[in-house]
Amino acid sequence: PSPLGPTPKLVIDLERLAQLPKEKAGALARYAATIQSQRGDYNGKVLSIRQEDLRSLAVIYDKSPAELTEELIGWGVLDPEARRAVESF
Ligand code: C2E
Ligand code: C2E
Ligand code: C2E
Repeated sequence: PSPLGPTPKLVIDLERLAQLPKEKAGALARYAATIQSQRGDYNGKVLSIRQEDLRSLAVIYDKSPAELTEELIGWGVLDPEARRAVESF
């Protein structure tokens, strides 16, 4: 086991996401809205997503999962802790 503890979750900051321009964040916003709808999870300020979903999003954004994670941290949508969630890929 890692000395830093268990693999952190990928937690999307939905309020920050809503503030970003559509050209950048539109695809992620639609993806998150779809997951919220499938779960019936509409009232959250954050949304925990699957590691598999970050892989799919990386394909959509034409980046590696690590590159997309850096971009989302830069936008303030993911916590820097998320880096550790992607190291295991
Ligand atoms: P499913 O994948 O067949 O999952 C059925 C139910 O199992 C989910 O119902 C949830 O109660 C539970 N479940 C599955 N995986 C996890 C998990 O990693 N953590 C937790 N806490 N529970 C889990 P729910 O939430 O109503 O979702 C219904 C369906 O919506 C899911 O069926 C899946 O097809 C889709 N879905 C929901 N959230 C996600 C997501 O984050 N990513 C993807 N790709 N699909 C999702
Ligand atoms: P946590 O995972 O650290 O989440 C802390 C709080 O962030 C949650 O408090 C909730 O307010 C919010 N949150 C995180 N992910 C989501 C999300 O996908 N949707 C929404 N709407 N809110 C989210 P909450 O609900 O009181 O849960 C407290 C703790 O209980 C969680 O801490 C976690 O340890 C556990 N828990 C809650 N739901 C699940 C679950 O589906 N699976 C697992 N394994 N643990 C859960
Ligand atoms: P979590 O609920 O704490 O689940 C942590 C990990 O346990 C998941 O990481 C997944 O690898 C495994 N796991 C938990 N429940 C199931 C399940 O029913 N089926 C399978 N095959 N694996 C399961 P993962 O996939 O990266 O998901 C991360 C977090 O995203 C979950 O933490 C949960 O907060 C959220 N999540 C993912 N899928 C769903 C879903 O379908 N419904 C809901 N409500 N939350 C989900």
